[in-house]
Amino acid sequence: MAEVEGSTLVARALHEQGTEHVFTVVGGPVIEAVGACGDLGVRPIGARHEQAAVFAALGEGYVAGRVGVALLASGPAVTNAMTGVHVAWDNCWPLVVLGGSAALATSGLGGFQEADSVTMMQSITKWSVRADRAERIPELIARAHHVAMSGRPGPVYVDLPSDVLSATIDESRVRPAGRAAPPARPMGDPSAIERAAELLLEAERPLLIVGKGLRWSQAYEEVSRLVDDLNLPFLSSPMGRGAIPDDHALNVGAARSFALRGADTVVVVGARLNWVFGFGRSIPADANVIQIDIDPEEIGRNRPATVGIVGDAGTVLRQLLMALEGRSEPARSRAAESPWLSDLREHRAKNEAALQPLMDSDAVPMNHHRLFRDLRDVLPRECIITVDGQITFATARQLLPSHIPAARLNPATNGCMGVGVPFAVGAQLARPDLRVLSVNGDSSFGFNGLEVETALRYDLPIVFVVDNNDGIMGGILESRMFKQPHGERVAMYRPQARYDRVIEAFGGHGEHVTRPEELRPALERAFAAGRAALVNVVVDPLAMWPAPTEGRRASALMGY
Ligand code: ADP
Repeated sequence: MAEVEGSTLVARALHEQGTEHVFTVVGGPVIEAVGACGDLGVRPIGARHEQAAVFAALGEGYVAGRVGVALLASGPAVTNAMTGVHVAWDNCWPLVVLGGSAALATSGLGGFQEADSVTMMQSITKWSVRADRAERIPELIARAHHVAMSGRPGPVYVDLPSDVLSATIDESRVRPAGRAAPPARPMGDPSAIERAAELLLEAERPLLIVGKGLRWSQAYEEVSRLVDDLNLPFLSSPMGRGAIPDDHALNVGAARSFALRGADTVVVVGARLNWVFGFGRSIPADANVIQIDIDPEEIGRNRPATVGIVGDAGTVLRQLLMALEGRSEPARSRAAESPWLSDLREHRAKNEAALQPLMDSDAVPMNHHRLFRDLRDVLPRECIITVDGQITFATARQLLPSHIPAARLNPATNGCMGVGVPFAVGAQLARPDLRVLSVNGDSSFGFNGLEVETALRYDLPIVFVVDNNDGIMGGILESRMFKQPHGERVAMYRPQARYDRVIEAFGGHGEHVTRPEELRPALERAFAAGRAALVNVVVDPLAMWPAPTEGRRASALMGY
């Protein structure tokens, strides 16, 4: 029988799992495996750094609704990837990282790039395992995909020693694995469903919180029906936006604090009451909380759940809709007329109006809100947005809408800066039919900004925007919060840096904008460029919000 190399088995296994793109930074010992992937139609995407490769894999996986896959070299390549693995861990995203390693035969002798990656990965993965023999590669990769997608999704690490990859074995020894089964979609306890339906029908001030966990059950129709059937006001988490279109009349995201403080019944689905929602502490103590999550351990975390329903969001929401069938009309009509809804709308309108003067400001240099107003105005209704950076993220949250699901990516649960550019690369690969806008603060752009070259190399017409306020929180830290001896700067960078020239260096389209009236035409040219473009927008380093107040610790501005 014919012989086969370990590297080829890696490529075959990924092909078997339906992997379309494998993200990599080519290097030993996985060079042959990357080559074999290309031969089998598993398209290798070469990034400039392993952290970015994993971010791009996550962007692709999230937008496409599947496992992100990275195939990396050994030692430092794997440690570079760990930030990306932690992003997957903290965001509950499915990811399989295949990392090369030194030969088993010389283990412990100090081989080139020898590292105990399996142990290092253990605390931030659902499973970390070494392929100790070539014949086991298919079964371990299949298992890795199953573990990554099942229950609460998460990352898996598979270590591939160089002598396992280079081993040539008889085909008859290969253990066939097949494709990982699709994840189970468990139902919720029927008595808990009935109790949740009763609470919702009785509620005077109900509120729904929708999060990015919905991605993995694609329960978009179900969640929209629940909202419409009950006239249920809702809030989306930063990445849950678009599961129900932001322009839905019952979206009360702009009245978030008021909504959380005033609700008497809160349904949480695909979201966690962690820091993103202030640990749920502002929800009144006597409010009913109905929590739906696939992970039993999440129920009641930070805030006791009146009803905890363990199950798949889509299945549970369908059960809930059935339980409400024929019973929801009185609650629906009552809600339409309720002071709760009119108060929420009033708060929303007031908060939105407060932003208008900032958005309409013609000041030079520009403020962040003016930049985002023009961005909002040029964006197609259906598009993908990646956002990165602190002030940039906060302003985007107020001004950039999302109208379709799984089309908004940002530093998310673990607040990881540097994701914006590589997320955009992965997202555009997953959805070539949609425009991708990637807005980055200049400091977060610095982490992985060279990935604009990756976008150009793979003909991805992403529009990158650098919200350029000269460094970390612009000039606010160094001018108001602390001063360095001898006037040295640690948080402010070289002023008015020309990030547009970074993309031009690789043949991309660059725009440099210093005045508000130049912005819109520059954005329109960028979207029409037919290749990756970068619009560098000079923004006032002191334009800041929330405005720092006298005596307030700088870290408090970042939520600490
Ligand atoms: P967000 O940041 O949008 O609030 P989180 O990442 O904090 O979202 O929470 C997502 C939640 O969704 C996690 O608790 C996760 O267990 C849950 N989840 C993931 N997949 C499913 C699913 N298929 N059904 C129900 N809940 C899910």
